[in-house]
Amino acid sequence: MKGAIVDVRGVFAGAVEPPEARSALAWWFAFAADRLVVCEVDETIELPFVAAPEELGLVAEGRHYLGLLDGRDCWALDLGADPAQVLPEGYTARQLRGLYSRVDDDLFALAGRAVQVIEWGRNHRFCGRCGTATESMPGERAKRCPACGLTTYPRLSPAVIVQVTRDDRILLARNANFPAAFYSVLAGFVEPGESLEGTVRREIREEVGIEVTDIRYFGSQPWPFPNSLMIGFTARWAANEITVDQLELAAADWFAADALPSIPPPPSIARRLIDDFVGRTTNDE
Ligand SMILES: [Zn+2]
Repeated sequence: MKGAIVDVRGVFAGAVEPPEARSALAWWFAFAADRLVVCEVDETIELPFVAAPEELGLVAEGRHYLGLLDGRDCWALDLGADPAQVLPEGYTARQLRGLYSRVDDDLFALAGRAVQVIEWGRNHRFCGRCGTATESMPGERAKRCPACGLTTYPRLSPAVIVQVTRDDRILLARNANFPAAFYSVLAGFVEPGESLEGTVRREIREEVGIEVTDIRYFGSQPWPFPNSLMIGFTARWAANEITVDQLELAAADWFAADALPSIPPPPSIARRLIDDFVGRTTNDE
């Protein structure tokens, strides 16, 4: 079997070291630069599902064990930094972002895990403090410098994303850098020393000049572009009128549920936050 239809809705158990008893066939999340190697059959995305990637002619610079999915081993395979390399017949390398709405959430999460582990491996081959070649720490997703002892782990960059409402309207903004002219909820990276609630207040104040209250946790979503974790909140308007920060935003306004502009597609957390507002507003009527 060359590939298998991706239906990974199952129990995933992450691990760093492969078990002694390997599964006969394994899932290979192979990345050429930041592109996932897939086989596209009609509308179906298939992943390499073989005992060893060499069977397909995939030449790897490194591999990282990810864990077990329904009893099958899962591996991240680093094919190197060249996104345009020659791949086995029938396979293509696709931008992960473009596969986002085409594969199920579990597969996307695993692919996101794989690319982040690969990037971390590529970027921490040498100690950032003294330049010595690092060593993998057994049993841990960590690299340690044998000379100075500096230990590095895969880095995540947390960001907040917020549904702000004022009565029966939601705050949506158009980012100056968005390629498409769609509106979304506000988001921003957490700064060192900041609480998540502090980031929510600061980002909204900086970008649109308003104050918010009643900040509540909504949910989260891994966002591997390149290594974010989106942490969703809801909040209510408390004071001030919208003043758009022209550096970050092209426009921002309050929108009613029945008069929304163009918004992000599902299943992003941005869309879930907007859908939550629409559902709540509609149910109130
Ligand atoms: Zn060092």
